[in-house]
Amino acid sequence: MIPLTRPEFGDEEARAVADVLKSGWVVQGPKVAEFEAAVASRLGAAHGVATTSCTTALHLAFIASGIGPGDEVICPSYSFIASANAIVHAGATPVFADIEDDTWNLDPSDIARRVTSRTKAVLAVHQVGLAAELDRIRESIPDRVAIVEDAACAIGSLYKGRPIGSHGHLTCLSFHPRKTISLGEGGMLLTNDAAVACHAKTLRSHGASVSDFERHRMKGLVFEEYRELGYNYRMTDIQAAIGLEQMKRLDDLLTARRAVAARYNAAFGKMTQIQIPAQPEYAQHSYQSYAIRLRPSCRVARDEVMRELIDEEIACRRGIPPIHLEPLYLKGGRVSLPVTEAVAAESIFLPMYASLTESDQARVVDRVLHAVTR
Ligand SMILES: *Cc1c(COP(=O)(O)O)cnc(C)c1O
Repeated sequence: MIPLTRPEFGDEEARAVADVLKSGWVVQGPKVAEFEAAVASRLGAAHGVATTSCTTALHLAFIASGIGPGDEVICPSYSFIASANAIVHAGATPVFADIEDDTWNLDPSDIARRVTSRTKAVLAVHQVGLAAELDRIRESIPDRVAIVEDAACAIGSLYKGRPIGSHGHLTCLSFHPRKTISLGEGGMLLTNDAAVACHAKTLRSHGASVSDFERHRMKGLVFEEYRELGYNYRMTDIQAAIGLEQMKRLDDLLTARRAVAARYNAAFGKMTQIQIPAQPEYAQHSYQSYAIRLRPSCRVARDEVMRELIDEEIACRRGIPPIHLEPLYLKGGRVSLPVTEAVAAESIFLPMYASLTESDQARVVDRVLHAVTR
């Protein structure tokens, strides 16, 4: 079976974990601080705040932005459900906007139509690693409305030549095994604002004014205080040690993923039945995933194509299920998002990972071409 994805761990990660276990300090400590600094400096942000996941990083980003009950946050429905759930966790209301037909990222003109006096932020999702058009999103909203970036899929992705993470907004990463680098689970909030970083670090550790590690280090009598409701969103040093090794691999992993994508693009780009991922001039894709969309000229139904791939032991997934159609989000009434629904119904995710061999990829390509031209 050719899998959809696979985490890229080696002996270095195993050794790093063993070293942390032997050190006797396994909870959040020096490795987490080192990992935060490594990610923030690589992505061009002043501060990193490690968390248990991107979902919890987003929750902290919204709280740190002063977003809560009564506020609205505009976000795509064409995303993993966590994007909207994090808005709800903060007590605010997600307002779904439609996506562009080619990039499958938020459509700035549709964002503009959905702004109200209660809009506090736009959640710009860089879907599957393609940067959203941040400058056009900025122009589509009033100055008082913030941008928060859901960069769960976008480590190593560039917007206008600079890494996602360096554009001055609160930006949240994921280190789940479906993403480009992984620690099993994990996330990070990036910010240039020292006060926001400090607030987020307090919130992630029960709201304590002093962290365990600081108390341990200061040896003497230091007592923490709890001034606001916090959470346990702490990454462990075990995870961070894996992350430090994964960061060393990041450039190689990105190069390998881009090579896989280039081979798919070359094979599918000339087919009238297939729409390949957009490559707008403002972005350099990081290809957390690779999805094709079947054009109307394709005579074979999407699910038939998927059936053929699965029968040939090639893993694939349907396009991202729109959040606004999930029972949880239908309670507020159904909104109309025609582009989101069409892209979701007509697209297929194909195997994409750095160690996908050329021969396995050739099998995928042959099978897709066979299925769409049946
Ligand atoms: C994976 C993903 C998330 C959630 O990340 P976790 O680390 O699993 O919480 C959020 N948003 C998007 C766009 C994702 O792809």
